[in-house]
Amino acid sequence: AGAASLALTLSACGQSGEGGSKEEGGDAKGGTIGIAMPTKSSERWIADGKNVVADLESKGYKTQLVYGEDKPDQQVSQIENLIAQGVKALIIAAIDNKSLDNVLQQAKDANIPVISYDRLILGTPNVDYYASFDNEKVGELQATYIVEKLGLKDGSKKGPFNIELFAGSNDDNNTRYFFGGAMKVLQPYIDKKQLVVRSGQTKLTQVTTLRWDGGTAQKRMDDILTSAYKSQRVDAVLSPYDGISIGILSALKSDDYGSTSKPLPIVTGQDAEVASVKSIIAGQQSMTVYKDTRELAKVASNMVDALLNKKKPEVNDTKTYDNGSKVVPAYLLEPVAVDKANYQKVVVDSGYIKESDLK
Ligand code: BGC
Repeated sequence: AGAASLALTLSACGQSGEGGSKEEGGDAKGGTIGIAMPTKSSERWIADGKNVVADLESKGYKTQLVYGEDKPDQQVSQIENLIAQGVKALIIAAIDNKSLDNVLQQAKDANIPVISYDRLILGTPNVDYYASFDNEKVGELQATYIVEKLGLKDGSKKGPFNIELFAGSNDDNNTRYFFGGAMKVLQPYIDKKQLVVRSGQTKLTQVTTLRWDGGTAQKRMDDILTSAYKSQRVDAVLSPYDGISIGILSALKSDDYGSTSKPLPIVTGQDAEVASVKSIIAGQQSMTVYKDTRELAKVASNMVDALLNKKKPEVNDTKTYDNGSKVVPAYLLEPVAVDKANYQKVVVDSGYIKESDLK
């Protein structure tokens, strides 16, 4: 084993730029796996990074974890570096799903398999597997919560109720799945005029929020309240992500929502971030969608381990995620709706958030 394992260790440490890719198949244990995450500005990605590292290390791999600060160019050069260091595989949560074409061709040329993590990378055949959640279901859960709480679903109320719609970043492939899933539920009520979008902004292109930025969403909600709600009240806001929900809630609160005479609308969310779970406990944000990213990290690590050992990774979806170049085989986990009634059981008792962090 001597020389071979020394070479392996050296390349794993990034000491030998070319060593890694020259290694002959077989057991890649001890090799380095490159992990490219999009941003540290949201808790979930910090946890994702930590969990993927821990899972891979427990399987005997080394890891290089990088964060792209929500800058597509930065992420591309980070991935180029990982390839130059001779990583054995890449796990990538893309910032801009269409910007990775060239760099993934480099990965392909160096024989490096690529796992698309959480967000599907588009327009390239050089993505091997996709690990994510049922993204359409996320939107369905958010929208179903709204129509249930408004009393529209069971017919106990007829409306009309006012709703505003927010979607995620337009360069994130998940955005259209979240929004599509939500609109499948909401559109029939909009058609029947039981739900009214007073701003008139109902198309995905009108409601996206670049890089999922809470401040951007706050500004848009401010503008909508000023222009469309002078004499009306908003009853529900579809928000795709907790950071956006917090921004929307700030805008609402500056407009006096949350006072006794002007209750806050139903506001959805996603990710079960600490600030939002606190907000749910305080009766402000209504719900979030919990996605156990510990499980996602496991799925992605197992995929890498299987591929590097010439086994077939486990998948449970081989038809949904067409990236424009191929249908990427996927393993999709189940998202769960969380509100005041079940947060304790779902996010605290499962150990996802510590009780003490919610104090
Ligand atoms: C993820 C969501 C997250 C959003 C913003 C999406 O791609 O699936 O969980 O809320 O990015 O970070």
